[in-house]
Amino acid sequence: MATTVYQEKSFRENVNLVFDIASATLELSEGLAYVLKGAYNVYQVRFPVKINGKIESFIGWRAVHSEHKLPTKGGIRYSPLVTQDEVEALAALMTYKCALVDVPFGGSKGGLVVDPKKYDDDIMERITRRFAFELIKKDYINPAINVPAPDMGTGPREMAWIADTYMQHRTDDINGLGCVTGKPLSLSGISGRTEATGRGVVYGVREFFRHAEDREKAGIEGTLEGKSAIVQGLGNVGYHTAKILESEDGAKIIGIIEHDGALMDRNGLSVEKINTYIKEHGGVKGFPDAEYFEDGSAILEEECDLLVPAALEGAIHMENAPRIKAKLIAEAANGPVTFGADVILRQKGVVMIPDIFLNAGGVIVSYFEWIKNLSHIRFGRLTRRHEVNQNDLLLKALENNGHKMPVDLVEKLCNGPNELDLVRSGLDDSMREAFQQIRDRYWSHDKIESYRIAAMAIAIEKVSLSYQDRGVYP
Ligand code: GLU
Repeated sequence: MATTVYQEKSFRENVNLVFDIASATLELSEGLAYVLKGAYNVYQVRFPVKINGKIESFIGWRAVHSEHKLPTKGGIRYSPLVTQDEVEALAALMTYKCALVDVPFGGSKGGLVVDPKKYDDDIMERITRRFAFELIKKDYINPAINVPAPDMGTGPREMAWIADTYMQHRTDDINGLGCVTGKPLSLSGISGRTEATGRGVVYGVREFFRHAEDREKAGIEGTLEGKSAIVQGLGNVGYHTAKILESEDGAKIIGIIEHDGALMDRNGLSVEKINTYIKEHGGVKGFPDAEYFEDGSAILEEECDLLVPAALEGAIHMENAPRIKAKLIAEAANGPVTFGADVILRQKGVVMIPDIFLNAGGVIVSYFEWIKNLSHIRFGRLTRRHEVNQNDLLLKALENNGHKMPVDLVEKLCNGPNELDLVRSGLDDSMREAFQQIRDRYWSHDKIESYRIAAMAIAIEKVSLSYQDRGVYP
């Protein structure tokens, strides 16, 4: 088949191209397709902060893509390179992601042009509180309307400052803690939120591996045990994905790509050792137990079963796509494969598990956190003891009838699930369910040529249904 040549587009245009192809497989009126595609509103702020006696000015955005469900949801990104186009694209991805995994939120995203590495904690706190205040003033942060979360460059620390700023200004909002998710546990965060996106990536990949038909399409046999993986980006998402793949699934992490180069060892790297090294030295250069490559992006092109881009959008593009040798690409980042690269990779037989499904674990667990905040009670508080007592009765009855149960089983049944167990089970269930919907659509629809289009079509269908149900659709 001849390769169609596409001009590389902006991130937002890339997302819209996928939207157009997916919506063409559905019967949508043109007006509705237009509404579903465009960002509703973008708020731009520019504010001053006094730093070491000098006034510095910061620019940021919060984009709302769809309010078909409220609150709208999505992270806040801190980066010197973040742009309005990027924030709008990411807000759109949030709409589709939430719809696909049945999380009842609209899509939003924020970005602030700042390099967090340049400032100390005190200054970052002042910048964050001021940015948060600007957004709170216009209801771009509000537990009922718009609920941010961590993204690149932000984490529980920033979410705590944002929650505190909100509660200082809205002292009478009893649900104030639900104005942001990804908070520290001490501030009504939820167990398992930090690992959630990475763990969701692994749950999604495991579900893919459960289906022989899908594995065959990628030319992969068996389980994840012993499979070789290359991970780009050892930030929060990449670290947890790599760590879980290595420690729970027995996969071999043969390559890790970071901002200052890459490490390779075909016998398997130690994710934990490398993570500790990065924390101490700020990068991978100089790590003693692996081969180092200065040109990290070249390692994306190495042979492996699984390639996990977990860094920025557009890492795999039309120029390097022809040289990619991975069998399966697990899109842990948002938009890591451009539209043009997707075409090239599919022609080569590379299977891609798309971002709007695979990295939805973060927002799934954010949903659990938000529910916990609104209900003002931790999961399992009412039911755990009762469940344990019931199990106890059952075990006694079995023992009275001469059945001896193994000690580890008794222990499990007598402890009951804690918050982390429940969060992981809810996450696993959501990821399995969503992948099954995607593969069903993919295998049953002639015009759908990838999981990406299948996932987007399901998402659009769900969003359009809720417009129809609300009566917005004429
Ligand atoms: N920033 C994450 C994402 O892109 C999480 C969003 C959230 O939890 O609201 O999915």
